[in-house]
This record gives sequence, C-alpha cells and structure tokens, in this order.
Amino acid sequence: MSRRRQIYEGKAKILYEGPEPGTLIQYFKDDATAFNAQKRGTINGKGVINNRISEYVFTRLAHIGIPTHFIRRLNMREQLVRQVEIIPIEVVVRNVAAGSISKRLGIPEGEPLPHTLIEYYYKDDALGDPMVAEEHIACFGWANNEEMQDISSMAIRVNDFMCGMFATIGIRLIDFKLEFGRIWDGDYSRVILADEISPDGCRLWDMATGEKLDKDRFRRDLGGEEEAYQEVARRLGLLDNEGGPSEVLDLGAHRKLRTKK
Ligand code: 5GP
Repeated sequence: MSRRRQIYEGKAKILYEGPEPGTLIQYFKDDATAFNAQKRGTINGKGVINNRISEYVFTRLAHIGIPTHFIRRLNMREQLVRQVEIIPIEVVVRNVAAGSISKRLGIPEGEPLPHTLIEYYYKDDALGDPMVAEEHIACFGWANNEEMQDISSMAIRVNDFMCGMFATIGIRLIDFKLEFGRIWDGDYSRVILADEISPDGCRLWDMATGEKLDKDRFRRDLGGEEEAYQEVARRLGLLDNEGGPSEVLDLGAHRKLRTKK
C-alpha cells in the first residue's frame, strides 16, 4: 500500500495529501493538549467522535449558506476537505464569561456577557497564541478588511445557528473557536470556514446541571471526558441511544456502564 504524504501534524489532527489536487484528508487523533501543549494526554475515542460531530455541524452550516472546507467523511477518523491557505487567526466567539476572559478581566465564570464578543488570537504556538486587535491583523497583513468583514459576519451566523442547535438538546453554548482559510480562483480569493467544530474547541454546559461537556474536563482534571464527548454526540443523534442513560446526563452512571462493558 502506498504511504500517503503527510502535509502537517497538529496537536489533535493530521493532514494528508488528498486524492485530487486542492483536497486534503483530515485525520482526527485521540491526543489532547492544553495550556499551549504543557499538558498532554489522550481521550479514548475522541478522534472518532470529533470527526462525526464536526461533519454534522459543518454539514448543517453549509445548509444555511456558510461556505466550509468540508467535503465528506471518509471513515471513522478521516474526512475529505478542501485545501485552504489558513488565515493565522483563531476567532473566539463568547456568549458567557469563562476561561481566559474570566481570568483576564475578573468576570465570574457563567456570567452572561452583555452582548456576544468576538476576539482574535494570533496562531503562534511559540508565542502562546496572543490576543490581537483588528489593527494588528490589518497592520501585519494577516487578513484584509474585506476578509475580516466576512469572517466576523460568518462567526456571528455560526454562533446564532449553534446556540439554537445546542439549546434544542439542552446544551448552553458558552464560547467556541473558529478558524478560516482562503481558497483561490485565479487572482480572486474567498474566505471559508476550516478546521473543525467539536467539544475540543467549544465550551458546552448542560443547561439543567451546568455540567461541562467539553475539553475543560481534561484541562481542569475533572475526569469523564470520554463520556462528556459521547454525551454531546448522543444528544445530537449521532450515536444510538441503546445501552446508556438518556435524558438527564449522569456522568457517574455513564462511567459505571463503561466499566461494566
Ligand atoms: P479561552 O480563551 O477561554 O481559553 O478559550 C475560548 C474558547 O476557544 C474555548 O471554547 C476554547 O475551547 C477555544 N479555544 C481557544 N484556543 C483554542 C485552541 O488553541 N485550541 C482549541 N481546540 N480550542 C481553543
């Protein structure tokens, strides 16, 4: 079997050359990192679940007219995507204070923000992804003004859609991170949504109990991360419901069930 050419290896994903020019294969790993990779571990089955969740969310976003890099899922851990020129900015959308904004500005976690906030971080591991202003983005040419308009309006549309999508399954969307890329058509380029959307890059809290259903379980040593990711997938209708507690999340019961298997 011929070995595929690896284009890039990130913390949670590997990109391989795709079957046709302009395509890539995005492989989802179980590896988890936090605090700029100072904390490392694995979450069993995370790659499989994130592949499914991201497929689902990107497909639904495409239905409302958001252009994305997603083409189709290939298997349990891989999806075919369009190759993009990644814009080196992490776009964070916040509805409720948590994480770094709470730390930086002293806003208690869980406090709803007066309105949705969009923040930009420069993607650079060595610098620890510092927060930047739109002026920095323009000044250093990371994206032009037109691209920033597209990015911010898409981020708001994604947020509106995902708030509703998660609310219907009893999950509060606290915040999340998006990445965008450019695709070229001759001299013209346009911006599309890239990377992934999964509990790795979102804060998702159970509406009834406040239980965290995202990577904060790993970051904060809360345990039960596999069950939390599975719970999100199950509520989205991506796993069968048999053999597990339904309706109200009970991480303890999920854990017991898993150890019995
Ligand atoms: P915070 O700035 O509070 O640490 O993160 C805000 C949101 O963006 C959280 O939902 C977090 O998961 C996501 N986020 C920020 N930076 C990264 C990153 O480098 N990788 C991932 N997977 N998510 C991130």
